[in-house]
Amino acid sequence: MTDTSDSTFASFLDAIEAGNPFYLTCPNDHGSLPPKRICPECTEQTLSKESLPETGEIVTYTNVAVPAPRFRDDSPYVTAIADFGPITLTGQLQGVDSDDVQIGQTVQLTVGSADGERFVAFERP
Ligand SMILES: [Zn+2]
Repeated sequence: MTDTSDSTFASFLDAIEAGNPFYLTCPNDHGSLPPKRICPECTEQTLSKESLPETGEIVTYTNVAVPAPRFRDDSPYVTAIADFGPITLTGQLQGVDSDDVQIGQTVQLTVGSADGERFVAFERP
C-alpha cells in the first residue's frame, strides 16, 4: 500500500508534468483525485495511488468567451470534462480550435499555467 499522505493537488500536477499522472483509489475501486484522506464515495480510509490511463475521452465541453481575469489571454477557450476511466477530470482544452472540439475526442493530460498558477489542461495526444 502506497503512502498517500503527501498526495496534494500540487503533487498531482507535478506527476502530470513528469509524465506519470496518478489517481487515488480505495479497496472498492472508487477513483478520486488528491488531496483526499478518505474515499469520497464510501469513506474508506485506505487509499492507494494508481497510474492514470494516458488518454481520456471528452464527455462534454463548453466554450468560455468571458473568462476569469487570469485566463483573459487565452480567451476564448474550451473547458472540457474528460473521462479517464477510473476518474473524470475537468480542464482547459489547449491547442484545439473551439470549432473542432468533439464529444468522444481523445485527449491527454497536461498542465497549463496562468499568472503563475498551474491548472489541469488537456491537449491532443
Ligand atoms: Zn470507496
